Order: sequence, then structure tokens, then C-alpha cells
Amino acid sequence: MVLVYSDNKKLGFELLNKGRELADMLNKTLVSVIIGKDDEKDAEEYIYHGVDKVYIAETEHQEFKVEEYTEILINVIQENNCEVVLIGSNKSGKELAPRLAAKLKTGCITDSTNIYLQGNILFAERVVYSGNAVAVEQFNSKPQIITIPPRVFDPLPADEKRHGDIVKKKFDVKKSSSKILDVQEMRSEGVNVEDAEIIVSCGRGFRKKEDIKLVEELAEVLKGKTVGCSRPIAADLKWLSEDHWIGLSGHKVKPKLYIACGISGQIQHIAGMRDSGTVVAINKDPEALIFKSADYGIVGDLYEVLPKLTNAIKEKMK
Ligand SMILES: Cc1cc2nc3c(=O)[nH]c(=O)nc-3n(C[C@H](O)[C@H](O)[C@H](O)COP(=O)(O)OP(=O)(O)OC[C@H]3O[C@@H](n4cnc5c(N)ncnc54)[C@H](O)[C@@H]3O)c2cc1C
Repeated sequence: MVLVYSDNKKLGFELLNKGRELADMLNKTLVSVIIGKDDEKDAEEYIYHGVDKVYIAETEHQEFKVEEYTEILINVIQENNCEVVLIGSNKSGKELAPRLAAKLKTGCITDSTNIYLQGNILFAERVVYSGNAVAVEQFNSKPQIITIPPRVFDPLPADEKRHGDIVKKKFDVKKSSSKILDVQEMRSEGVNVEDAEIIVSCGRGFRKKEDIKLVEELAEVLKGKTVGCSRPIAADLKWLSEDHWIGLSGHKVKPKLYIACGISGQIQHIAGMRDSGTVVAINKDPEALIFKSADYGIVGDLYEVLPKLTNAIKEKMK
């Protein structure tokens, strides 16, 4: 069987697309699990998005607790003899998947961006060396556990005519000795670059913090309103909070439109925005690397280009 799990419903639905494809090709059942929430409506939604059998695992832990969640998944994997396990690569999935693999004495491929079968052999691709290469990996043990980041796959459209089984079950799970003493919310400016459809991003080409308003004004007229940035702007200069930081060590984004202003286009930045739909780059250096990743390039001084571009779009929007 093929198992899909994420504590994030949206990410779970994305994984179900690939899970469905693999299950059909392997002629297996697609299983999923809801932990920490006794919600049959959610379970039905999972079925509409491609699952054959959904477990609602009863637990005292509404909040993610890695030891218990791992044990529940081990029970489901063993009960269903799952050969392929796809886990959403968010914060909790990253903690869960390797622990699961270690307990089951099997391998784990992390942050895969493509998965496919050749015959009955499963291959997973991952971006390595800061985006300079793609590694193609395969397993020599089962179950084959793979983590997948958000927005790699699109969810299948919901089909309300689909039928499946909903199994409510309390698994015999050992209580762990660790305790969650406190949960502290990360300080955030409420910016969500990861879900933004339009991002206007700024880099070291800006001379001072106040000048970032040029980017904000362009984002505003585009109705996107989301401002991103390269690492130096958030990490070194601290002109914007880390919510805006895009790249290998920042957020990975997939907007329809990404406008990079005064960003050189180093591979670590590209690693975070390479899946964007249309990329526009503004840079005064015609040789800047960013132009290699751009669909449209404007060679010029951003202090001249940005106000003109903003005004031109404002006019057009009228
Ligand atoms: C392990 C590691 C992880 C990293 N992770 C990230 C990451 O997640 N995200 C990230 O962004 N970086 C990351 N970096 C840093 C990355 O290597 C680059 O240093 C960084 O992206 C450069 O930021 P920048 O393009 O804003 O600045 P610069 O490289 O200094 O580029 C500034 C650009 O602005 C242009 N410019 C200057 N003035 C103007 C003007 N008036 N008009 C128009 N253009 C102008 C210049 O021609 C230049 O191309 C990482 C590095 C390492 C080693």
C-alpha cells in the first residue's frame, strides 16, 4: 500500500496527487491518517482528493508530538504493509520522517521534488549542492519513506463522488517521557511569501532601508502587496523581518510573478524562487546572474526604473 501523511491538510492534498499516481501504477491501495482531530468531514475530503482508506487515529495529543505520532504511523504502516510512505516536508514532517525511518530500519529521502517509477523501482529526485545539481536516488529497503515540500505537486480536484473507507482507531501507543512545556509563536509581521501570487523582492542594490518603499509601491499597484528580499536584507541589514527572506535558507516561493530588484541572482537566492511562473529582473549590471533565471530583464538603475514602472502600471490599471 501507499501511505500519505501530513499534519497540514493542504500539503496532504498535494501529496495525495502523487500518492494516487503511485498507488494506481503499483496497483495498491492509497491510505492516509488524520491524527489529533476526530473529524469525519476532513476524512471525507481526503477521500474526495484520492484516498481509498483514511484512519482517524484517536490520541490525547491535539498538538503534534513526534514520539506518539511516529508510533501511530508505524502501526498504520505495519497493519497495511505499506511499501511507500510520503510525508509532507513541513516542520513536523521533517522531524517525523527520519525518526520513522530509523525505527523501521529503512531509508528516508528528504525534500524530494520528483518521484517516479521505472518498472517497480521507485526513484526520487532532490536538488543538491545549493541547486547546482539534481540527485536521483533509490531505496534498497522498504518501506520507502520520502518527504516532499509544499507546492511541489498540485492537489487533484475534489471528486465528491469518490468513495472510501473511514477507520476510527485507537492505537496502542507507548507514552513518551518527553513533555511539551511551552509553545511560543514565532514573531512574524504576518507576511506569507510562500502563498503569495505576486512578489516584488529587494536586494543589496538598495542603498538604504527607506528606499524599500519603492518595492512596496510597486507591489501595491500590482495588488500583490507581498515584498520579498534576499538574505542580506533580512539577515545582515535587518531592514525586513525573516518572513520576507527568500532562498535556500529562507522561504521557498512559487508565485505567478516574481520581480527581483537589485538582486544579483546567486544560486542560494535562485534556490528559493526558481519555481516562480514569470520572473522579471531589474539590475544595473547587464552581466548579473539573475538575468539567466529571468523571463524579462530590465538593465538599469532601480532608482530610475522602479518609479517609472510603478507609474506605468498605475496608468495601465486605470
Ligand atoms: C549557506 C548559504 C545560504 C544562503 N542562503 C541564502 C538565501 O536563502 N537567500 C539569499 O538571498 N541569499 C542566500 N545566501 C547568500 C547569497 O550567496 C548571496 O550572497 C545573496 O543572495 C546576495 O544578495 P543580493 O543579491 O541582495 O546582493 P548582492 O549579491 O550584493 O547583489 C546586489 C545586486 O544589486 C545590483 N545593483 C546595485 N545597485 C543597483 C541599482 N542602483 N540598480 C539596480 N541594480 C543594482 C548589483 O549589480 C548586484 O547584482 C546564502 C549563502 C550561503 C553561503
